[in-house]
Amino acid sequence: MSREKTPVRVRFAPSPTGHLHIGGLRTAIFNWLFARHHNGTFLVRIEDTDIERSKKEYTDAIMQALQWMHLQPDEPITMQTDRFDEHKALINDLLARGLAYKDYYTQDELYQKHEEQFGTAEFAKAYRVCRDQPQEQDKPYVVRFKLPLERKELCFDDAIRGRVCFAMEQLDDFVVSRPDGRPMYNFVVVADDIHQGITHVIRGEDHISNTPKQILLYEALGATPPIFAHLPLILGSEGQRLSKRDAATSVMDYKSGGYLPDALFNYLVRLGWSHGDQEVFNRNELIELFSLGAVGKKGAIFDMEKLDWLNGMYMRNTDDLLLYNALKEADLLPATIPFSQEQLIRLIGLYKERAKTLKELIEQIMALAEQPEAYDQASLDKWTDPATPVLLKKMGAILQDVDPFSDTQIKEAIMGIAKTDGKKLGALAQPVRIALVGGCSSPSIFELVAILGKHMSLARLHALENYLLRRA
Ligand code: GLU
Repeated sequence: MSREKTPVRVRFAPSPTGHLHIGGLRTAIFNWLFARHHNGTFLVRIEDTDIERSKKEYTDAIMQALQWMHLQPDEPITMQTDRFDEHKALINDLLARGLAYKDYYTQDELYQKHEEQFGTAEFAKAYRVCRDQPQEQDKPYVVRFKLPLERKELCFDDAIRGRVCFAMEQLDDFVVSRPDGRPMYNFVVVADDIHQGITHVIRGEDHISNTPKQILLYEALGATPPIFAHLPLILGSEGQRLSKRDAATSVMDYKSGGYLPDALFNYLVRLGWSHGDQEVFNRNELIELFSLGAVGKKGAIFDMEKLDWLNGMYMRNTDDLLLYNALKEADLLPATIPFSQEQLIRLIGLYKERAKTLKELIEQIMALAEQPEAYDQASLDKWTDPATPVLLKKMGAILQDVDPFSDTQIKEAIMGIAKTDGKKLGALAQPVRIALVGGCSSPSIFELVAILGKHMSLARLHALENYLLRRA
C-alpha cells in the first residue's frame, strides 16, 4: 500500500565535472533516506552551470553510479542549463527592483587596484564602489547582488550543526551573472531549489560558506529558505580530507573492486550517522531509523578494513545466484572460464565465506581453473609419505565408480577407504586437497571434488601421484 507523498522534497545536485565521488554518494544516500523516511520526494538535478568543465559523459557516469546503488530519483532528472532563460529573467527582475546592479569593472581591474586587500573586508567594500556607477554603459558587465549593509550578521539553524552565524562583513556583493550573461552558481542553485519546491538542502559541509549568500537570495526572490543540513566531511586515516591515497574516491571503482552496493550503502550511512553501536542495517531499517539529528558534526574517517569486513558479511548473506549476477554486472567474470555456469554458482557458494570482495572471490575460484602448477612443500611434508601415490591411485579408482558424484557419496567412499586402510579421514582428505588446489587451504574438499567433477578431480589426483613418484 503506498502512503500519500508528504511535502518533503530533497535533491541530490551533483556537478558533472568528474565521476561520482564517495562523498557525493553519501550525500545522495542521506537525501534518499531522508526522502524515504518522510515519504517525500527524492530528485536528482545535474548542476551543469560550469559549462567549460561539465561533460555529458560525467552526467552519464553519475547516473550509472546512482543506478548501481539503486538510488532512483522519483521524478525525471533535470539539468540546470535547461532553465537559463528563466534564471536570466529572475536576474533582470532583481536589477529592476534595485536588489542587484551592473558592475562594469572587470575582475582583473579591481583585483589589481586592491591586490593587497584581497580576501579582507576592505576588498569586499571595494567592489561596492560599482553600486553607484551609471547603470547603462556600452561595456560588458557582471551583475552583483546588493548586500543589505544594514544587517550585521546572518544566522540560520542547520539541522546538523545547530545555529550557524556569519558576519555580514565576511561577505561581498557577489556576482550573480557573468559578462556573457550566464547566471552564476549560487544564484542558479537557489532559483532551482525554489522552482522545484525543495524543503531540505542536505549537502556537504564544503557548501556552508555559500549558505548565507543563498539565504539572501531566497529573501530577495521572496521565498522562504529551506532547512539546511551540512554533512561532515569524509576524512582519510590521518584526519585529512579523503584522497586517492586513502581509498578509491570514485564510486565506480568500488563496483569494479568487487563491493556490493548494499554493503557500500550500509558503510557510507555509518560514516557520519549512527544508531547506538549497531553497524549492520538493511535499507528498510535505515529508512525507518534515519534522521538528520543523528548525523554527527565531526568528520568521519574512512576505514577500508571496516568496509571490507562489512562487504564480506554481505557476501556471506547473499544468495549464490545473486553473487553470480553481481560478478557479471561488475564485469568481473573473465572471458574464458573452464567452469559451467552451474559449477561457478556452486563454487561461489563454497568460496564466499572466504572472500571479502567479489574480486577476491573470483580470483580464488579462478585459481582452481588450472591444475596446480606447484605443490606447497610444507603441505607435502606434512601429509604425504612414500605410500601416498598408491593411496591416490586407489582413491582415483574408487571415485571413478561413485555415482551420483555428490559430496556425500564422495565423502562416504573416502571414509570407506580410510576404514579399510586403518587411516584417519584427514590422512586421505589432505592429499586430495593438495592434489586439487596445491596446498592445504580450501573449503570442504568433498564438495570441491563434487563440483569440479569426476574428470577434473581424478586428473588432479593422478597428477599428484605422478609428481610424487617422479620425485621419489
Ligand atoms: N553542485 C554542488 C556539488 O556538486 C552541490 C550544491 C548543493 O547541493 O547545493 O557539490
